[in-house]
Amino acid sequence: MDELMSVHSARGAAWNRVRLACLERDLSVCQYCGGHATTADHVIPISKGGPSELWNLVAACQPCNARKSDRPILRRFWRDESWFRR
Ligand SMILES: [Zn+2]
Repeated sequence: MDELMSVHSARGAAWNRVRLACLERDLSVCQYCGGHATTADHVIPISKGGPSELWNLVAACQPCNARKSDRPILRRFWRDESWFRR
């Protein structure tokens, strides 16, 4: 588990870049509650092998990111659903 976490480290310049790109794509709107997003949340959790890439990230506010459960994502906020397709 620790190895996985280090591979997909949620820190550093690479994460910062993709996080900011995610916030820009989702207009800084939290995809769970519609609030102001300040971070990005993994759709497929890192623990389940989800990569830190844009298609697997949604904008989220701190409370929702911390609460992180299997809550469904409010897809209506997505500008372009093709982001979600493989
Ligand atoms: Zn939220």
